[in-house]
Amino acid sequence: MASRELEVVHSPQAELPAAGGGLSALLDRLIGPFRRGEAPEHQPAVGFYTDTTVCIGCKACEVACKQWNQLPADGFGWTGNSYDNTGELSATSWRHVKFVEQFADNQPPEPTAKGQPLVDRWLMMSDVCKHCAAAPCQQACPTGAIIHNEFANVYIQPDICNGCAYCVAACPFGVITRSTFSGHAHKCTLCYDRQKDGLVPACAKACPTASIQFGPIDELRARAQRRLEELHGRGVAGAYLYGDAATETYTELHSFYLLIDRPEIYGLPESPFNPWLRMSGDYLRTAIAGLITLAVPVVAFLLWGG
Ligand code: SF4
Ligand code: SF4
Ligand code: SF4
Repeated sequence: MASRELEVVHSPQAELPAAGGGLSALLDRLIGPFRRGEAPEHQPAVGFYTDTTVCIGCKACEVACKQWNQLPADGFGWTGNSYDNTGELSATSWRHVKFVEQFADNQPPEPTAKGQPLVDRWLMMSDVCKHCAAAPCQQACPTGAIIHNEFANVYIQPDICNGCAYCVAACPFGVITRSTFSGHAHKCTLCYDRQKDGLVPACAKACPTASIQFGPIDELRARAQRRLEELHGRGVAGAYLYGDAATETYTELHSFYLLIDRPEIYGLPESPFNPWLRMSGDYLRTAIAGLITLAVPVVAFLLWGG
């Protein structure tokens, strides 16, 4: 893959079309941006499988993401709560390695997953957009800025984002943030630009322990199952997969996790819920309210208007 990276760096840049003259050039400039391009061919769905049991919290993924996507640093403040000072995902932090510090003096009151004994430990988890198969952010976006691209990854097109932040409210994982600088919503692109050039996403490439694995979703699920069986065989009874399959209230995630404690311990919802499942009732109530609003003046006019 390294030689492929060099090839891409040295490949010639696309030639810009020569500008024509007169009216046709002017029309081209006016209409061109609104012409529909040809949709790229669908590719097999790809995503991430993150095995948190081998994450060492080095944050190489966070740094690689910032470096590749030219995202600015978030400052050097100490949170004072943890050795993790990134704190959370944001418009400028598309990867965030969570440090869950479970020590005798800050243990959660409830038992850990599947009745495991409490031990002093650090749980590390590299968090990112879950690239949901049916993504509430995409369903909520009024401008069509959020799409599923040809790799079945959820992608924001910032140039047609109006900054309404509906997507921010819709995501059950708290992934999207609107930038206070650009006013647009931002999140992980699953390194769409690198994928287009046949490269592995920067975070997965930089991870020294292969905690972040990238590839076709079906292959990743099979690999995760094998790892799960291995862990169970070694006595890690609490290990399980989060988001690898659909539930009653949410579709499968194209970025799923192997965890060893309850989802809430990692800051994940136990049962994510797609807000669209309750929207039909809201639409019905709005339609009835609209009809009543229209009917009142009509009835009033019929009774007293004449
Ligand atoms: S903030 Fe942008 S991406 Fe998000 S819902 Fe609004 S238009 Fe869509
Ligand atoms: S995790 Fe949130 S931001 Fe990412 S695709 Fe799902 S709903 Fe959208
Ligand atoms: S896939 Fe790319 S954009 Fe997404 S977290 Fe990894 S490095 Fe960042």
